[in-house]
Amino acid sequence: MTETRRALPSLDLLAGVPTPALVVDVDRARQNHRRAVASLAPGQVLRPHFKAHKCTALAHLQLAHGATTVCCQTTWEAVVLARQGVSDIMVTNQVVDPAALAELAEAAGAASVSALVDAPVHLALLEATARRAGVSFGVLVEIEVGMNRCGVGVESDALVELATAIAASDVLRFDGLQSYDGQVTGVIDPVARREASIVSNTLTRRAVERLRAVGIDVPIVAGCATAHLPFVGELDAWTDIQAGSYLLMDTTYGAFPDLDYPGALFCLATVIHRSPERIVLDVGLKHTAVDRGPPTWVGDTTAALQLSDEHTAIAVSPDSPLSIGDRTFLLPSHIDPTINLYPTLWFVDGDRVERHPVDGRMPDRT
Ligand code: PLP
Ligand code: MN
Repeated sequence: MTETRRALPSLDLLAGVPTPALVVDVDRARQNHRRAVASLAPGQVLRPHFKAHKCTALAHLQLAHGATTVCCQTTWEAVVLARQGVSDIMVTNQVVDPAALAELAEAAGAASVSALVDAPVHLALLEATARRAGVSFGVLVEIEVGMNRCGVGVESDALVELATAIAASDVLRFDGLQSYDGQVTGVIDPVARREASIVSNTLTRRAVERLRAVGIDVPIVAGCATAHLPFVGELDAWTDIQAGSYLLMDTTYGAFPDLDYPGALFCLATVIHRSPERIVLDVGLKHTAVDRGPPTWVGDTTAALQLSDEHTAIAVSPDSPLSIGDRTFLLPSHIDPTINLYPTLWFVDGDRVERHPVDGRMPDRT
């Protein structure tokens, strides 16, 4: 509670900002970023995940403070990053849709761009796109390490076959492996999380060794998330750590006892109703993701919140000083889908307030 109060941006500074609004404490974000970079071992780099905030101003902050590369999840994010001068972009996804392949090619015209494959058809699509557009792509084979999403098995023939085919292509470059153990990111207990990460680390090392055994060099092994940061230096399989949430954080990750990364994202709201027992804010389901539960109100972090489309009702005591027109903050429970709901982020940096677009959101692509 005390920590939350200390962390709140100044309501006076934000007086001119229309609500609902998302506010970034830039100094905290910078500190979180420095802490993440400092937790890496030699041979590891932070490749921050752009999908977390989709804001190129924040990507530039990360690149100015110790990150040299980024990753993103969608091809339009890659286009936006390339247009903003980011030179090394990994799309941590398979790319299949024709419009997405065209976007990947556009990004590759301005930056070094890589993407994932886990089937020969992905490779064929990337090759054909690269030839048609006169560009080249880096390619990583995704391995399945327990999340049950994409990827080939660590012991599969497909792993070696795909890597061999990429290495033989004149328009594709074999960059290495993508190994994302997303199942680990939900484990709050630090001991159990570290143990689960060591299991995926071992699987990932095995995949690298299989490729090396047939003479294929594996320059990049990308993966991990914010959940791994407390012990990431011990995980010797990965070279590129693609954490995203660590920069701004949310209340879900805030509950991890070993993650010393304070929240830097706040949802500014206005009180639109006051009765003795309740306040209602002008923020609702359309302004804060609830897939990981409701947001938290800074005025009483234990209060139950009742959300509807454009309202949040919060039970308060009759002597609460809040009245209609006052402003307050909610803390998002999951930053990525929350930020995706907003066109703008408001940066508070010392006594400066700046507005920056969430320019990596999906545009009209027709
Ligand atoms: N890498 C991939 C492929 C992801 O899907 C995610 C998040 O879902 C991340 C990295 C980053 O995770 P986090 O925001 O938990 O740091
Ligand atoms: Mn997320």
